[in-house]
Amino acid sequence: MANSLELRSLGNTGLKLSCVGFGASPLGSVFGPVSDEQAIATVREAFRLGINFFDTSPFYGGTLSEKVLGKALKTVGVPRNEYIVSTKCGRYKEGFDFSAERVTKSIDESLERLQMEYVDIFQCHDIEFGSLDQIINETIPALQKLKEAGKIRFIGITGLPLGIFSYVLDRVPPGTVDVILSYCHYGIIDTTLEDLLPYLKSKGVGVISASPLSMGLLTESGPPEWHPASPELKAACQAAVAFCKKKGKDISKLAMQYSLCNKDISTILVGMRSVEQVQVNVAAATELANCDKDQQTLAEVEEILKPVKNQTWPSGI
Ligand code: NAD
Repeated sequence: MANSLELRSLGNTGLKLSCVGFGASPLGSVFGPVSDEQAIATVREAFRLGINFFDTSPFYGGTLSEKVLGKALKTVGVPRNEYIVSTKCGRYKEGFDFSAERVTKSIDESLERLQMEYVDIFQCHDIEFGSLDQIINETIPALQKLKEAGKIRFIGITGLPLGIFSYVLDRVPPGTVDVILSYCHYGIIDTTLEDLLPYLKSKGVGVISASPLSMGLLTESGPPEWHPASPELKAACQAAVAFCKKKGKDISKLAMQYSLCNKDISTILVGMRSVEQVQVNVAAATELANCDKDQQTLAEVEEILKPVKNQTWPSGI
């Protein structure tokens, strides 16, 4: 069973990521409480089923996600060079700060919480909330120094509006930004990341697409209270979830399979907090390798979601 998950190259980094990535924001209890025991069992199952990529941030659960992920990784005990960890900087419970001084301090804090000597990918978190020119002129050069110091291996940027990525990538020397992380833009509801993929490929930048379930919209338990979608989008998703349930289909699995089909995206980062969720999401990928996705249900769900196709929400300043 182990390592049956497809590995995909991440841009020019040389890293090979499992096509299902482990989003650790739920380990910060942001979608409901998660005990340390549950987190450890979830991470152990992820390794057992071939997941090798884990993403967190000091922002998730106000540093709790990093602490719990670090503890779980240590407890499970897989050698450090057999998995890939990304964390972020610039976004904190207290607010945003992309200054060189803050992000330089941030890596040391994250490494301590994660109980690691280095992280593989260090990303500027939700840059649309900062000044993009500061990201280009101050934050990324600071991250390059951390790379030279061996504390991080690769540099990334994350955020919601897609225009931020080309703004930055057009203004930094080639090879400076290794990875972008986009979220909620490649799934059944919204596919707008697709238009940017040829550009990212031409730059050799690796692509991580997060939130295939649109942060809970495409789940039977529904989105958390803080979810920023409009009431119209939430209602349409609720209708799609109810439709699938009545038909005996799992909308989350369908959504995972939809997102996994595009191989120009290296990994689909899904937030997980239980052994069962790991099993379902990995099965979504392994079954897809053998057979086609459920085209009929997909077409029916797409029809329900048609009025809200590509609808997003404001983010940033
Ligand atoms: P998601 O779309 O992955 O949804 C997560 C929710 O779905 C959680 O409540 C989870 O428990 C539930 N879930 C997972 N698998 C399920 C299944 N098979 N059936 C039913 N429910 C299931 O949203 P997310 O967690 O926000 O995104 C994934 C990860 O991507 C995050 O944990 C984070 O690591 C990363 N991310 C980064 C950014 C950023 O950098 N700006 C933004 C969003 C997400």
